[in-house]
Amino acid sequence: MTLSLHDVTLTYPDGDGRLTALDGVCLEVPGGTLTAVVGPSGSGKSSLLAVAATLVTPDSGQVVVAGRDTADLGPAEKSRLRREEIGIVFQQPNLPASLTAAEQLQVMAHLAGRPARAARGRALELLDAVGLADKADRRPHQLSGGQRQRVNIARALMNEPAVLLVDEPTSALDHERGAAVLDLLVTLTRERSTATVLVTHDHAHLERMDGTARMADGRLTRSVPTA
Ligand code: ADP
Ligand code: MG
Repeated sequence: MTLSLHDVTLTYPDGDGRLTALDGVCLEVPGGTLTAVVGPSGSGKSSLLAVAATLVTPDSGQVVVAGRDTADLGPAEKSRLRREEIGIVFQQPNLPASLTAAEQLQVMAHLAGRPARAARGRALELLDAVGLADKADRRPHQLSGGQRQRVNIARALMNEPAVLLVDEPTSALDHERGAAVLDLLVTLTRERSTATVLVTHDHAHLERMDGTARMADGRLTRSVPTA
């Protein structure tokens, strides 16, 4: 399923004026491909993900997720689209303190109205895939920062999203773990025809991507296929 942004502009209030975070951004990410978003701090990378995630409504322009123009959707339909079709990994994992690693994943299936029995099995499979098979019953405070980030990533994959949006997923991980997580994201993107966007500073990741979008001052200045 394709993700496309067409001429998207987003501003935030800034003193007496407005700050332009996204300035006429166009981006097309076909299903089964990965696009890296690179650029200096403050250039609009996270804003681009927030708009693609339907968490923030742009001032103008079009955001089409899995064939649906998000401008046509009300708040309830948008949150349903997010639960069912969009996987989001923020830089700071926000994991409820009282839930075990497996439960963090299972609750996503529950929210999307999926059967609980299958969810447990899938949660354990995904935890295994990110190297946490033996940590399924641990709560967030019993995990390291890197382990929490891997739970966070596995959680985003739980409902097999059509669109996967990932903000610097491996910055908290060592090289080996980071490479393993990237392998998983690439494999699942190909297998499930996911449209994946990955904000990254890691140049080793770029050669695994199908394209690189470069942000500067809210503009997407370059979008090149790396393949
Ligand atoms: P990046 O992820 O590339 O560092 P961001 O998208 O976070 O960039 O930020 C782009 C610009 O928008 C920056 O100037 C930032 O300060 C501003 N910005 C981001 N989020 C908000 C917000 N919620 N309110 C006001 N300004 C914001
Ligand atoms: Mg950011």
